[in-house]
Amino acid sequence: MQRVAEEARRAGKSIGCVPTMGALHEGHLSLIRRSRAENDLVVMTLFVNPIQFDRKDDLARYPRDLDRDARLAGEAGVDIIYSPGVGEMYPDGYATYVTMEGLADRWEGATRPGHFRGVATVCTKLFTACRPHRAYFGQKDYQQSLVVRRLVADLNLGFEIVVLPTVREADGLALSSRNVLLSAEERRQASVLFRSLSVAQAAVKRGERDAEKVRAGIEAQIRSAPLAVVDYVAVCDPDTLDALTRIAVRAVALVAARFGATRLIDNVLLEP
Ligand code: AMP
Repeated sequence: MQRVAEEARRAGKSIGCVPTMGALHEGHLSLIRRSRAENDLVVMTLFVNPIQFDRKDDLARYPRDLDRDARLAGEAGVDIIYSPGVGEMYPDGYATYVTMEGLADRWEGATRPGHFRGVATVCTKLFTACRPHRAYFGQKDYQQSLVVRRLVADLNLGFEIVVLPTVREADGLALSSRNVLLSAEERRQASVLFRSLSVAQAAVKRGERDAEKVRAGIEAQIRSAPLAVVDYVAVCDPDTLDALTRIAVRAVALVAARFGATRLIDNVLLEP
């Protein structure tokens, strides 16, 4: 991968990188299409990164379908799929990890210990392989997009991070590779996540500025779905992810909840 990337760079070509864990859906494809439009060479990485999973069962259940992914990626404009093996990424004796303080410790970081250490480590390794000019991420994983921006800035990796809007189902549920793991009833109830966030968005537009009131409203609505188990609901500063008491300029509402064995996250920006 490094040789191919270096050759492309020497030939003056720009490289767009789209990191994924496969089980592609329209969310991934939107990133690929944007990367196709903005770069000469489009690399999709496909690696189900074991060290970012805090639960063994989640890793074991994670959907995988390389043949389908290869077809969809090709149709959307991917030139190269870089899909290293686990042993190639983390051979015996592997000992180096990238940890981030502050931003990575809260919300997803607090409920999934080691998650962002795994993300930051794998992204560093994937970027080192792909030598991108731009890398594409989804707003769906809002905190991850901030962590990756911070990583690229702090380690002087020297390329652009592009974050694209969340692609949703007709009922608002954010597309996720994990959605296929939901039972019919869990799937039906999972739409409460975006519904509750939309209600919050409307309240803030109408003038609500009390962040705790907005937060509690989202949480109450999610809890009204009998199968939902809330991990956290937060209304935060969109850059630092510090919890807010008042919504002055912009805020982001972050939610994480489990439906049966499947954990889902979502978020929206709140703008007065
Ligand atoms: P994953 O394969 O789940 O690790 O996701 C790979 C990339 O796709 C990440 O940058 C995600 O934020 C992004 N992504 C996942 N779901 C969506 C979605 N519904 N809309 C937009 N981007 C998404």
